[in-house]
Order: sequence, then C-alpha cells, then structure tokens
Amino acid sequence: MTKTAPATVICQVCKKPKSPHDGMIAELIRPSLAEFIKKSVSEWDDKGFVCLDDLGEFRKDYVKEVLQDEIGELSTLDNEVIESLHEHEILSSNISKQFETKLTFGERLSDRIASFGGSWRFIIFFGAVLFGWIILNGIFLLNRAFDPYPFILLNLILSTLAAIQAPIIMMSQNRAESRDRLRAENDYKVNLKAELEIRHLHEKIDHLLRKQYNRLFEIQQIQIELLEEIGRQRKG
Ligand SMILES: [Zn+2]
Repeated sequence: MTKTAPATVICQVCKKPKSPHDGMIAELIRPSLAEFIKKSVSEWDDKGFVCLDDLGEFRKDYVKEVLQDEIGELSTLDNEVIESLHEHEILSSNISKQFETKLTFGERLSDRIASFGGSWRFIIFFGAVLFGWIILNGIFLLNRAFDPYPFILLNLILSTLAAIQAPIIMMSQNRAESRDRLRAENDYKVNLKAELEIRHLHEKIDHLLRKQYNRLFEIQQIQIELLEEIGRQRKG
C-alpha cells in the first residue's frame, strides 16, 4: 500500500490551506528562526506546517531585529538590503554605467573639458600657443603687432579662460563625488547582504548537520537493538 501525500495542508501560522510544496515542516526551520516565530505564534507545533510566504515574512522581521540589535537604528540602505533578501533579488549593479546614462549633454561636456584641462596635452598645447603669441607679437610683427608688449589682449584671454575653467572643474568634481558616494552605498549594501546570507547559510548547515547526526545516532541505536535481538534469538 502506498501512502499518498495530502493535496493540501493547513499552515499553522496563517491557517490557510497550502500545497505541501509551498512550505516546510516546522521542525526543519533553523532553531534561531523557529524561536523567533514561536514568540509571535501561540499554537506552535514542531510537526506542523509553515508556508513559505509566512517564513519569508518572519525571516525578514528576524533579520531586521538582529540588525537592529547589532547596529542600532536602521538606515534606508539597511532596509533596502532586508527587502532585497526578502525578494531574493540581486543587489549588485553597475553604478558607473547607471550614473553615466543619467548625465546630460552639458555635464558630459564639462567632464570632457575638465579631463582635457587637467592633462599634459593641454599644458603643452597651451604653452605652445602662449609662446607663439609672444614670439609673433614681440618679434615678427614688431611694428604692426595686434597685441604689442605687454600683451594686454593675451592677458584678457588668459583670465577669461581661468574664470570659465574653474567652475567647469568644480562641476566635474562634484559629479565625481556623488558617483563615489553612490558606489560606496552600493558596496555597503552588497557587503551587508553577503554577510547576512553567509550567516544564514552557516546556521542552515549547522542545523542540517545536527539533524543528520541525530538521525545517524538513532539508526545506529536501532541497529544495535536489532543485533542484540538476533543474538538473543540465537541463544534461545
Ligand atoms: Zn501560512
């Protein structure tokens, strides 16, 4: 005679009928989480059934509580991590790519200008222009110079350039800073999540090992009893 599994089982938390595949027996839940659930469920039965939806909710609350105990007030970042644990989604994302697509044309242009302005290419090019200008006006066009010594027009151009370049560089720096902040936040979230997941795995494995040892011990006990029985029968 084969025993068929019942089509539905009643979840002992939400009291709703569920498929046996959508949950697990309370005994199999790792102890720390089971302790936590017991606090809020009055009729707890170790042999009872708990659906995955409830387990997910409890797990979320449990992680929240543990985190709160350890680091105090939870930030929005921490909450995002807890949500993502619950939703089983991946947190890591390519921040720089995300950031790059949000930039406007003006912002991109200022980044370009700032990176050109801070390069040896710019210094060499600009040095050549200055040198050319002075040589041209000071020596070649001595009497017909469009900017005679002491090069007042050149002075004006230089100060205009400096006035424009400074805010452009600042804009670009601000953006680099916010990109770094985004990256740091993302790193924090990924690290926290990895830590939580690893801890969860640890507990799961410990729980499994303990269960397995108990089971092995039981089996061994049964075998010993059987052997003793056989021995007794032989003698008798
Ligand atoms: Zn349920």
